Amino acid sequence: METADIIVIGGGCIGASTALHLAEKKAGKVLLLEQKDLANGASGKGIGIIRTHYTHPVLAAIAYESLQLFHHFEERFGGYDSGFNPCGYFVLVGEPDVETLHQVVAMHQPMGINVQLVSPQTAIDHCPPSFLDVGDVAAAAYEPDSGYGSPPKTTLALAKRAAELGAEIRTQTPVQAVKLDAEGRVAAVVTPDGEIATRTVVDCVGPWARQFAVHLGLEFPVKPIVEHVVVVERPPAVAQFHPVISDLINLCYIRSDADQAYTRIGNSDPKYHQQFALETADQFHGQQFPDICDELYHKLVRRCPALQSASTVETYSGMWGVTPDYQPIIDRLDFVPGLYCAVGFSGHGYKLSPVIGDRVSRLILGETSDAVKQLELFRFSRFQANDLVKAPLSYAQARGLR
Ligand SMILES: Cc1cc2nc3c(=O)[nH]c(=O)nc-3n(C[C@H](O)[C@H](O)[C@H](O)COP(=O)(O)OP(=O)(O)OC[C@H]3O[C@@H](n4cnc5c(N)ncnc54)[C@H](O)[C@@H]3O)c2cc1C
Repeated sequence: METADIIVIGGGCIGASTALHLAEKKAGKVLLLEQKDLANGASGKGIGIIRTHYTHPVLAAIAYESLQLFHHFEERFGGYDSGFNPCGYFVLVGEPDVETLHQVVAMHQPMGINVQLVSPQTAIDHCPPSFLDVGDVAAAAYEPDSGYGSPPKTTLALAKRAAELGAEIRTQTPVQAVKLDAEGRVAAVVTPDGEIATRTVVDCVGPWARQFAVHLGLEFPVKPIVEHVVVVERPPAVAQFHPVISDLINLCYIRSDADQAYTRIGNSDPKYHQQFALETADQFHGQQFPDICDELYHKLVRRCPALQSASTVETYSGMWGVTPDYQPIIDRLDFVPGLYCAVGFSGHGYKLSPVIGDRVSRLILGETSDAVKQLELFRFSRFQANDLVKAPLSYAQARGLR
């Protein structure tokens, strides 16, 4: 029977990063198994915003470390391109959130994060003339070093580098089951091509987490949710590139493409999430729920009236795996010795992925550093204990910016 020291299941940005960091640390024979193609799930459709604006200090710290990796991605990861564009990032808030924005910025600055409170006019000045309406914006923050990347490019880059370092990446290989030995420890994975013996499995199946773990008797509280994106072409008068904007008043996020005058908008209003939930991730086939794309377009035009006459180029959807506190589950699952997981990134996992792979690899290799201890925040048992991740700061509607 074929054997591997560590099998990573799932070829999204989290699985690819985990395989890479394991290979870098010479963890033995590392095999990544992906049921379809790399970036088949959330990582294929993400809008790719990379920012540090989190209301929880641990997430802000991980995001900051990750941002630095994105800035040096090519040197750090074998010359491959993540599509990172450090075009700058603005957070816009209304009156009820001014104090929270000030507190978040005050928390971030001593961490070394390059962020400033700025006037709403500064956001106008960074955009094409007459692009933004900031009439309802009471305060703004600016991260000049943040921006966006390409989740599919990043996933492929991480996987290619992992392969160069000795990991084997096998696509079109669904894992049908994890087999346990008589003591209940991980013994093998089952695929259509046969079994592969291993003592260590890392579950990185993203929104598939709940359905995948059923056969192990585990209940992962990860709900697959459809997330929509509208793409418009900016008219010539406002064709100039604009930075990324988190609009905490209209509850949406906006970014420009670098190579064409397109603006992408996605939803950050949690009120829709229940409505857009699927029973299983396999039910996702790119479907779009009624009315939400029109709603997104109206949000866009409220913030950017110059786009009133913009033509819609495309609407599409992707899928998130969302947990009850919108934070991932990253853990060693001691009730199935040999099983680890990094799933449920709830719509914000891309920006964290270069660091998460490093942390998961350290956890597997038995490190007990502070960096690994940080992962306790994301432990599986928090749901049973009703001890969910709670940020010390919270926006009125957007709550903890995730
Ligand atoms: C529209 C949209 C916008 C987003 N915007 C942002 C953003 O701006 N910034 C940000 O940071 N994040 C964003 N995200 C979230 C981000 O894309 C995800 O958090 C991230 O991609 C999760 O990666 P993952 O590897 O955990 O999961 P996935 O990319 O879903 O990967 C899981 C993989 O596991 C595979 N798999 C499942 N079951 C099996 C099995 N049994 N055997 C083998 N393989 C299996 C799947 O095929 C899939 O490829 C967005 C997501 C969407 C959809």
